[in-house]
Amino acid sequence: MELFVSLKHKIKNVMRYLRVKYISLKILGKPDIQIRKRILILAPHPDDESIGCCGLIQRAIKERKDVYIIILTDGSASLDDYAKNQIINERRSLARNVADRLNITKLFFLDFPDGKMRLNHPEVEKLHTLMKEIHPEQVFIPSHLEGWSDHVIVKRLIKELWSDISEVYEYCVWFWYYFSLRIDWKSTYVLRMTRNEHRNKKRILEYYTSSLSPQGNPWIGVLPSILLRANIQKDELYFKIK
Ligand SMILES: [Zn+2]
Repeated sequence: MELFVSLKHKIKNVMRYLRVKYISLKILGKPDIQIRKRILILAPHPDDESIGCCGLIQRAIKERKDVYIIILTDGSASLDDYAKNQIINERRSLARNVADRLNITKLFFLDFPDGKMRLNHPEVEKLHTLMKEIHPEQVFIPSHLEGWSDHVIVKRLIKELWSDISEVYEYCVWFWYYFSLRIDWKSTYVLRMTRNEHRNKKRILEYYTSSLSPQGNPWIGVLPSILLRANIQKDELYFKIK
């Protein structure tokens, strides 16, 4: 039985790997994403902003765009053995350090509970107020193919503000881990990182994954290796949904 489970696991990982390769080849000829003047990245957890959009963030900062990041949940569900407050503090401090390295000054934290975001949570109103103040031209949210409830719900959280935003793009984090091939190739755009941007992204993801709790696990939780490998490819993938 154990052998069967491990074989199944291995086959799934090979399939994931092939899907990542297939998508990476498909996007070679896709157009470059155009970054607008005032952009907002909505990250469900403190790390998604970098895993999905580190290349885009660096490019936008270099081009002197206004980059806003809102981290939606408190990130408290990444590890079991620690008090929630400790995890929240550690993860927020990692995200702040990353923002400093990327020269981002507009980083906001909301208090949606990790793993339990819902549409009628009081934080929704705070999110809407903040977004109205920021008034972004372009908003980045996780892909609807992420297969992870805190990620998939983001689009519904901002539905009310939809008409105020000119452009909405989806970015990819867990997208690479799941099997869906229902990909809208016509709306696909790519951020092709320079060597320097790519090196910085790898360093930042390394920083997140190597910042360990006393028991030796990363504060951000243990992420599947295929997810990390896919997300440190040289191209970042975006889907224009508005
Ligand atoms: Zn996440």
